[in-house]
Amino acid sequence: MTNQQIVLKSRPVTHASEDNFALRTVPVPPLGDGDVLRRTIYLSLDPYMRGRMGSAKSYAAGVPLDHVMIGGTVSQVIESTNPAFAPGDFVTGYDGWQECHVSKGHDLRRLDPAVAPISTAIGVLGMPGMTAYVGLFDLGQPKAGETVVVSAASGAVGAIVGQLAKLTGCRVVGIAGAKEKCDYVVQELGFDACVSHYSDTLRDALAATCPEGVDVYFENVGGKVFEAVFGLMNVHGRIPVCGTISEYNDPTPTSGPTLRALLTNRIMIRGFIVGEYAARQADFLRDCAQWIREGTLKYREDVVDGLAQAPSALLRLFDGRNFGKLLVRVSPDPTQATRG
Ligand code: NDP
Repeated sequence: MTNQQIVLKSRPVTHASEDNFALRTVPVPPLGDGDVLRRTIYLSLDPYMRGRMGSAKSYAAGVPLDHVMIGGTVSQVIESTNPAFAPGDFVTGYDGWQECHVSKGHDLRRLDPAVAPISTAIGVLGMPGMTAYVGLFDLGQPKAGETVVVSAASGAVGAIVGQLAKLTGCRVVGIAGAKEKCDYVVQELGFDACVSHYSDTLRDALAATCPEGVDVYFENVGGKVFEAVFGLMNVHGRIPVCGTISEYNDPTPTSGPTLRALLTNRIMIRGFIVGEYAARQADFLRDCAQWIREGTLKYREDVVDGLAQAPSALLRLFDGRNFGKLLVRVSPDPTQATRG
């Protein structure tokens, strides 16, 4: 049996490209004692992967050259000598950009397809959903009646942030690119308004949609979007800095606000990494799984077929060509036939 993998071949200097990756085929090793062999069904593609392609100092080390690209996965166990996992089990873990993987399975979590579609384990009920949950509730601490602004509003994290803020009773304004994304977050997700960051008058458009200023800005983008929102922040505002995607391909970002307003308005800006909030996972899964079941929390997936498409698909995150949580379907999802 063989395994197709995508490895990091070279490091981008500015913009990542498909040439930074290489496809290779290797044999699947025989199973030892306690091993679990699983086939990847879904691979998650996320903005943080751009950071792992480089070697700059960050909160996590870069992927070594010629190593399999890192990535969250949903898989099905096909063979196991580990009593904790049986063939047929669905699991989520970090198996990376490959068709299958063998390990002791220490980082695997079993999934129940009856609870939610298995793909959600790397989306709304996985890392991006949890990022929205802890970033908004633990750091942003929104209160009913406050105004919450979120950028990359139609994406995996932003779409959940906005809906959770609405559930809290806030006025919610999104920032997104294309008109269809802005329409989606207002019409489908129930945001109060959404402004396009392509607008030449972003700051004025935001001011018009946030007449009482901004209490929480959930930052996903950075750069000129941050600058536009920052000037509207209220006294004692909070800014959870979740991501700065506009800067990931740019080693020398230039724009940004001055710090004086930070001081005079006593604004709290705090960066965070979702991996440090493992203690909140049970709360997150309990609340968000229930809101999905009730239909109060909606999500959208953007699914690309075939492992070989992963490099070109990843690049879509950095110019807004994804619409929803970006996933690669590496092999057929056996639960889809039964979902109808
Ligand atoms: P999305 O699904 O939102 O996809 C990325 C979106 O970012 C694009 O669709 C695009 O939306 C927007 N974007 C890309 N480039 C630019 C740009 N130059 N200017 C403005 N907008 C841009 O991704 P995620 O929801 O997965 O991630 C959102 C953010 O959250 C990222 O910054 C990511 O790094 C961060 N993150 C942080 C985590 C943490 O632990 N701190 C964990 C997970 C994610 P549009 O078309 O609307 O412009």
